[in-house]
Amino acid sequence: MAVRKRRRKRRKIRKALLHAFFPMRCASCGELINYDKVLCKECERSLESHNMPTCHKCGASLEDHDEEVCSGISCPVVTAFYYKDRVKRLIIDFKDYMRNDIFETFYPAVTERVAVEYADIEFDMTASVPSYERKRHSTSVTMAKELAHAFMLDYDKNLLIKYRETEKQHMLGQSGRMENLKNSITFNDKKKHLIEGKTILLCDDVKSTGATLDECAKALYQAGAKQVCCICIAVSDYTVRLSEEKVFSEKIAEKSSMIKEQIS
Ligand SMILES: [Zn+2]
Ligand SMILES: [Zn+2]
Repeated sequence: MAVRKRRRKRRKIRKALLHAFFPMRCASCGELINYDKVLCKECERSLESHNMPTCHKCGASLEDHDEEVCSGISCPVVTAFYYKDRVKRLIIDFKDYMRNDIFETFYPAVTERVAVEYADIEFDMTASVPSYERKRHSTSVTMAKELAHAFMLDYDKNLLIKYRETEKQHMLGQSGRMENLKNSITFNDKKKHLIEGKTILLCDDVKSTGATLDECAKALYQAGAKQVCCICIAVSDYTVRLSEEKVFSEKIAEKSSMIKEQIS
C-alpha cells in the first residue's frame, strides 16, 4: 500500500513538473487546465452519464430502451454513457491515442453503475477483451485493471485468447459483426483454473451489437465461470446506429442501381 502511495505521489510530482514546461490542455476542447485534471470544468459538467437504471439486456437506460430493438447476449450488460458527441470523441482518443488518463473522467460514473446495478453480485475478478496482435495499449485492459483495483478484485490479462484476425467491426452491419467474430475467441487453457467457479466482471469501452462481449462471455462460461456480467463505458445508441445502417444500405442500393443503369 505504502509503495503504491509513493508511486502515485511521484507520478503527481512528475506531472506537475511537466506541466510547468508543457501546460495541460482539456482533452475535449483544448482549453488550458490544471495539471491534475483531464477536462476543463465546462466539459466535465457537460459529460453527463445517463445515470439511470439500465436494461441489462441491451445496456441502454431503462427510460430509452426500446422493446422493439432490445436484444440480449449471453450475459447482462451495464453502461454509464451513450456513445455520442463528446463521450464518443473522448473514447476514440482513449483508444487511438493511448490516453489512459481519459478513463479518469469516466471512472466515477462507471464504478457507480457497477456498484448500483450489480449490488447483489459478489465479483471475484475482472476480465478484459483479448486482441489478436500483441497491442501495447488496450482500453479494455486499462478498464479491467482500474476496476479490479477499485473493487479489490483479481485480474489476469490472459484469461482469453483471440486466435484469428477478424475484420474491423465498425465496417460491418449487425449480422456481419456477429458472423465475423463467431468462434474467434477462446479461453486460455493454462488459466482455466482461475476462471472455474468464478463470478467475473467483463470490461470493455463500447457496447454496440454486443458481439465481442458475447464471444468473450461464452468462452468464459465454457471454461467453467459461474457468472459473467459486463460493464462498458458507453452503449451506442442503437436506434441511431440502425438508422445510420439503413442510410448506408440505401446509399449502396442507390449506387448499384446507378451503375446498372450506366451498364445498360
Ligand atoms: Zn474543455
Ligand atoms: Zn433493453
